[in-house]
Amino acid sequence: MSIRIFQTIAELRTALQTERMAGRSIGFVPTMGALHAGHARLIETSARECDITIVSVFVNPTQFNVQSDFDRYPRTLETDVSLSESAGAAIVFAPSDKEMYPEPLDAHVDVDRLTEHLCAAFRPGHFRGVATVVLKLLNIVQPARAYFGEKDAQQLAVIRRLVADLNVPVEISAVPTVREADGLAMSSRNRRLPAEERRIAPLLYEALLGVKKALLEGENDAQNAKKVAFSVLENAPIRVEYLEIVDSRDLQPVQKINVPVLIAIAAWLGDTRLIDNLTYTP
Ligand code: AMP
Repeated sequence: MSIRIFQTIAELRTALQTERMAGRSIGFVPTMGALHAGHARLIETSARECDITIVSVFVNPTQFNVQSDFDRYPRTLETDVSLSESAGAAIVFAPSDKEMYPEPLDAHVDVDRLTEHLCAAFRPGHFRGVATVVLKLLNIVQPARAYFGEKDAQQLAVIRRLVADLNVPVEISAVPTVREADGLAMSSRNRRLPAEERRIAPLLYEALLGVKKALLEGENDAQNAKKVAFSVLENAPIRVEYLEIVDSRDLQPVQKINVPVLIAIAAWLGDTRLIDNLTYTP
C-alpha cells in the first residue's frame, strides 16, 4: 500500500485506531521536514522495529526564537513524503499551524536543569516549545516507540526526562548521528550554506574530534581539552556560540573529566547556526 498523508488530528487518530485494533505496534519519527539521510535512518530504524511507522512533518513555530529563522526554514513536503515512503514509513502527518495551535496555548512543559546550558542558554523558550510540541505529538500518535537523533543531544535528554517524569507511555530510542562523507553532521540547515561555508563546515566535527582525542590521550581538564577545539577553529570564519563539556546525565559543565561527558558545539557560519556533539566515557 502506498503512503498515506493526513493533515488533521482527527483523521490520523481514526487511521491509527484501526492499526492499534489490529494489534500493530506504532513507531513514530517527529521531524520538521526538509528530510535528509539522517531522518531516513530514524525512519528505517522505526520501520525495522515497529509494524507501522508515522513521520510527522511540522515546522513548529513555538520553538523558534527568531522569526526569520522560522520563515527561512526549508519546506519540501513533496520530497519529504517520497523519502519517508522509501525509508519505510506508512503515514506522514503534516498538520497546519492552526491544526496544532487552534489558539495560543496556556499549558506548557518545562524541563528544568537540563535546559540551563548549551543551546538553552542561547535560545530562550526553545526547549519549552520543543517539549510541549513533542508531548502534544506523542499524545496524538500514542506510539509504542519514538525515535530521536543523537545529533540533537540536549533535545534527546530533555525528551527522555519529560517522558520519565510525566510517565508518558512510550519508549524513546536514540539514533546515532548520520554524517556527510567529510564528517559534517547532516542537517536541514546545511542546504542553506553557500559553497565556501559548506567547505569549512566540517571543521566543527574536526574540533570535536580534537577534543575527544585529547581526552583519549589522557587530558582530563575540560579547559585544556577545549583549547584543542579552539585551535582547530582559530583561523576559520566561524563564530563559536558555545563549546562545552558537560556531564552526559544532567548536562552540567564539568571541570575534570571523570564521568561520561558530552562534548557539544554550536557555531555560526554566516547566518546559519550549526550544532554537533560527541560523547566520551573515561
Ligand atoms: P529536525 O527535523 O531537525 O527537527 O530533526 C528531526 C529528528 O531527526 C530529530 O530527532 C533529530 O535529532 C534527527 N536528526 C536530524 N539530523 C540528524 C542526523 N544527521 N543524524 C541523526 N538524526 C538526525
